[in-house]
Amino acid sequence: FNKTLLSLFLLFFSIQSFSQQNTIDQKVNALLKQMTIEEKIGQLNQYSGDWSATGPITINPNKQSEIKKGLLGSMLNVLGTTYTRQYQEYALQSRLKIPLLFGQDVIHGYKTTFPIPLAEAASWDLEAMELSARISATETAASGIHWTFAPMVDICRDPRWGRVMEGAGEDSYLGAKIAYARVKGFQGKLGEINSVMACVKHFAAYGAAVGGRDYNSVDMSERMLWETYLPPFKAALDAGAATFMNSFNDLNGIPATGNKYLQRDILKGKWKFNGFVISDWGSIGEMVAHGYAKDKKNAAFDAIAAGSDMDMESNCYRENLAQLVKEKKVPIALVDDAVKRVLRKKFELGLFDDPFKFCNANREQKELNNPEHTKIAREVATKSIVLLKNKNNLLPLSKTTKTIAFIGPMVKPLRANHGFWALDLKNIDSTYIVSQWKGLENKVGKNSKLLYAKGCDIEGENKDGFAEAVATANQADVVILSIGERYDMSGEAKSRSNIHLPGVQEDLVKAIVATGKPVVILINAGRPLVFNWTADNVPAILYTWWLGSEAGNAIADVLFGDYNPSGKLPMSFPRDEGQIPIYYNHFNTGRPTQNQENTNYVSAYIDLENGPKFPFGYGLSYTTFQYSDLKLSKTKLKNTEIIEVTLNITNSGKVVGEEVVQLYLRDRVGSVVRPIIELKDFRKIKLNAGETKTLKFVIDNSKLSFYNSKLEYQSEPGDFDLMIGSSSEDIRLKGSFELIK
Ligand code: BGC
Repeated sequence: FNKTLLSLFLLFFSIQSFSQQNTIDQKVNALLKQMTIEEKIGQLNQYSGDWSATGPITINPNKQSEIKKGLLGSMLNVLGTTYTRQYQEYALQSRLKIPLLFGQDVIHGYKTTFPIPLAEAASWDLEAMELSARISATETAASGIHWTFAPMVDICRDPRWGRVMEGAGEDSYLGAKIAYARVKGFQGKLGEINSVMACVKHFAAYGAAVGGRDYNSVDMSERMLWETYLPPFKAALDAGAATFMNSFNDLNGIPATGNKYLQRDILKGKWKFNGFVISDWGSIGEMVAHGYAKDKKNAAFDAIAAGSDMDMESNCYRENLAQLVKEKKVPIALVDDAVKRVLRKKFELGLFDDPFKFCNANREQKELNNPEHTKIAREVATKSIVLLKNKNNLLPLSKTTKTIAFIGPMVKPLRANHGFWALDLKNIDSTYIVSQWKGLENKVGKNSKLLYAKGCDIEGENKDGFAEAVATANQADVVILSIGERYDMSGEAKSRSNIHLPGVQEDLVKAIVATGKPVVILINAGRPLVFNWTADNVPAILYTWWLGSEAGNAIADVLFGDYNPSGKLPMSFPRDEGQIPIYYNHFNTGRPTQNQENTNYVSAYIDLENGPKFPFGYGLSYTTFQYSDLKLSKTKLKNTEIIEVTLNITNSGKVVGEEVVQLYLRDRVGSVVRPIIELKDFRKIKLNAGETKTLKFVIDNSKLSFYNSKLEYQSEPGDFDLMIGSSSEDIRLKGSFELIK
């Protein structure tokens, strides 16, 4: 009876949402019928507004009059209820009163700044990431904005690429889980007052730019595309992502923006995406520079034909689409389809019922100063920190340490923790950004004497500050040294060929270590850096990325043990740029470094050790975890069956802690070669000292499947290795099973 009731209930809801969609479609069609071709094309056009909300209202008169004529569908870079209201009022003066959509790059927070996405990925905490997206959405929506250009779900195996900071790292399984969580977080229930549309980007393969140089070409096999680069996009779509953004790169010779295979065949065809695709900034026009379109008119043709619905800032659609329709080169049905996709979202958001629904200055004031958000930003930041080294348990530090020297160029600047894409509303403001220095002061108060020296700049060759730094260190019981990358050294168009610690910072580390004082290093960066000397010679290292507005407090929480670090690297950290691309889930060669008799002729560099400096999934804790009692419910299964895997995890140390238990598989033989190890599941669990928990994982056919030699996604009978551990290289439990016909 209960089941019947449940199915009736579900049926009722699906009919309801179907009919809701139906009425939206009816409304869209009715509106479309009234629209002129110019008004239609207007809906496919997006302009940038002012860059920030700080100055006086300077609204470009041309844009103003276009909006009033109904020739614009959307704007980006219009921040705050005052400005969005102003622009929306212009739109409502147009003939059909179609409201504008406001979009913004809310990448890691609107006012409350969260850790950069790569840092958050290191938390492996899906709930925390969903929550941070939820809060970003709440603040964004309260500021009159309907849409964030996030999450970026591009897989990246090349830390030279500046935009690595915006994604979830190198792994498609982890990346897909995070993509799903972030879309859910941003969108909540679309149309509700604290939700924004997500925009999944950049479709596709943007993270595989040759040489890690931003915007560069991508040349990639179909298998690699499907197996490694597309899964996070698919996951984001499954989470209900309202929009997608295409990308700047060409993929196998065809710019993504004009790529019919990506946008029409895969996204709108096979995956049945019913939202809309926006171009990247100017990317339609850039097809001319690519050498793919003769001029902007041809670029407009290529883009609309390929399924790019909205033109961000290239003006190609505005200037050419009407003519292309007139010349019968572009069927009006293509334009109509794109317009309908855009209008549908405006209806779903409820903008036709109330164009100022998201424009409430009181709400804006309240949400942008919500102390709960600050609290959560601090929690998420603590979870994102990765403990790379802790010799002789130097960390956590005692809160009664007499004298602490806090040294380095990242200690005091507010901007040090903010990172690229932080929205500097009203500029950097110490009332809501906690510097590392302030965080330390907040933590130890008057218990300790705090000494400061800058030591050196982030960049440059100047060592004049070393002497003062060394003298300062000499007066202290312990030194905390904060170094890394400036906020603008990783991000869009911030690719670097050299990812060693910039400037003379590693020399500063050497000078401080030479004092013989215990040294803790904080590395603040937007990417994995190379710091071999530091890694080998400094007893304690925390990778603190760019952690956002609560960085100072979060770092202090971890330094003094109020939070036990639980982060795990979402990327392999190379020993040298020469190893890039380096990633954990690679294939074996016919000449692997192990098990090879003639060790001279193996797949290795003759001048560098193989393998990463720190592997994927790696991160330490102030406690220890024991893995035991691995059990598999069966060791032979058919592809319709599952295996239940259970194991026990014990916190064998003295303090509460969280562990990310990682489940990896290897398919020993395939019709195409398979990675030596692949993440297939994980669980983050919290255990009190001495506590044991039993974990259960389920292995089903989806975890055993891959794109076979015919590019069909399926499993193949044979033997599998099961590996469960604390990182991709720290496997604690092993098993095996066989998939049978
Ligand atoms: C970036 C996008 C971003 C857009 C709008 C482009 O340069 O590639 O990720 O959403 O600008 O700011």
